[in-house]
Amino acid sequence: MRLIVRMLLAVVCTTGLLASSATTAQAVKPKPYCVKYKCIALTFDDGPWPYTPELLDTLKKYKAKATFFVLGRKVANRPEMMQRMVKEGHEVGNHTWDHPSLTELSDEDIVAEITSTQEVIYETIGRYPTMMRPPNGATNERVGERMAELGLPQILWTGSTLDWQARNQKIIKQRTLKLAKRNGVILLHDIVPETVKAMPAVLKTLKAKGYKFVTVSTLLGDRKLAAGEIWPPRPKKK
Ligand SMILES: [Zn+2]
Repeated sequence: MRLIVRMLLAVVCTTGLLASSATTAQAVKPKPYCVKYKCIALTFDDGPWPYTPELLDTLKKYKAKATFFVLGRKVANRPEMMQRMVKEGHEVGNHTWDHPSLTELSDEDIVAEITSTQEVIYETIGRYPTMMRPPNGATNERVGERMAELGLPQILWTGSTLDWQARNQKIIKQRTLKLAKRNGVILLHDIVPETVKAMPAVLKTLKAKGYKFVTVSTLLGDRKLAAGEIWPPRPKKK
C-alpha cells in the first residue's frame, strides 16, 4: 500500500515538474515593456527647432525616450539635431513637409507632402519613419486611403496640451501633468520654448509617480498598426 502511495506521489511530482517547465518555456518570450511598466509617450511636433537640443538634454537627464513628429523642410536645415535624436534612442515620425491640413489638399499634394518628408528623413538619418501624424490632427477617409497606400499609420494623441496657445511654462506643466495617464500619448511642441522649459519639472514629477517615458513604438509593444489606421482611436463623438 505504501509503495502505491509512493508511486502515485512520484507521478504527481513528475507531472508537476513537466507543467512547471512548460510554464518556464512560455515565459521565455518577454512581455512587452508597457505591459510590465506604467508607460507614457511624450510626443513633440513641428521641429526640429533651435530649442530641440535643450529638450534632448532634459530627456537624456531623465533617461526619457520621446517621439518627434518632424517637418521635412526643417529636417533639411538641421540634420545634426536629427542624428542626435536617433542616436539617443528617440523615435522620428513624419509630420509632412510644410504642415498643411491634409484634408484640404489634392491627393497628389498629400502624397508629395509625405513622400518628400520620408525621403529627407531617410537621407538624414538613414531610415524611413514608420508612422505619421497629420498636421492639426486633420484627417478623413481620403487622407486615410493615401496613408494606407504609403504604408503609414496615423498617430494622434490621448491628450493635447495646447501648449502653442498657452505659451506659459506653468500652465503647460499643469496641463501635461493633468493629461498624464498610463499608456497616454501626449501632444507637445518643441518649437514652443515654454514647453521645453517646463519639461524638467514635468519629467521629475511623472518619474516620481512611477512613469516610464517611451516612444510610440515601445508603447505599442506587440501591437502592429495597419497602414492608414488611426491610433489611438478617436473618442466617439456624442
Ligand atoms: Zn504640427
